[in-house]
Amino acid sequence: MPFRAILFDIGDTLWHSRSAPPPAEFRRLAAERAAAALAELAIAHEDPATVARTAWTAMEEAMRHARATDLIEPDYGEVSRAALHAIGLDLSRDQAGWLLESTYISGIEGGKAPFDDARDVLLTLRDRGFLLGAVTNRAFGGERFRADLRDAGLDIGWDVEAVSVEVGFLKPHPAIFEFALERLRVEPAEALMVGNSLAEDVAGAQRMGIAAAWRESPPDATGVHPEYTFTELCELLAEPDLQEAAR
Ligand SMILES: [Mg+2]
Repeated sequence: MPFRAILFDIGDTLWHSRSAPPPAEFRRLAAERAAAALAELAIAHEDPATVARTAWTAMEEAMRHARATDLIEPDYGEVSRAALHAIGLDLSRDQAGWLLESTYISGIEGGKAPFDDARDVLLTLRDRGFLLGAVTNRAFGGERFRADLRDAGLDIGWDVEAVSVEVGFLKPHPAIFEFALERLRVEPAEALMVGNSLAEDVAGAQRMGIAAAWRESPPDATGVHPEYTFTELCELLAEPDLQEAAR
């Protein structure tokens, strides 16, 4: 197939959790950061661990709900503001969003590591002339996410970065794929989506007319048939359809 662009999921496709700290350590770090954030806001609260847990739980709950319903990204600042208000903290939406984000343990610190061949595969595909896009579901975007990508060696000069919380829609919603295609100026049939989720990456892409390559993982959907299947990213480089980008 004459592809011009390759879209990549990030989590468990390009990086994975290799050495995540145990949950208790995550909670300890989050509480420490909530305490620092509260101090910076000059707001007193006797139990920063509860503050961190309250904001985080509300965020996860909103995310789960969105994933199970309309796939529209919640306003996490507002979600956090409302949850913290309920335990007696009066913060603005921006303050609450910032506090939530400051408790987030991400990237290498959170145990994320790139797959060993990820950077080489991306750079080789770039050399072969393909446009490269990241299409990822994440509740935190912005500079923090870009720094995490950099730390993992995955800052390969993406032609588009479609981050759900920035775009406003979660995979498999068509809008996040449309966002990527429009910015790349490619048609669905000219793109390949690479990811580990049958439900989000493969089915989401295929519904848009985008072919999909599935990184074999515990299946999260039935009746979904990817056009390509692989276990290691480097196998993509041997795929006849990916030897050279279409013009
Ligand atoms: Mg994934």
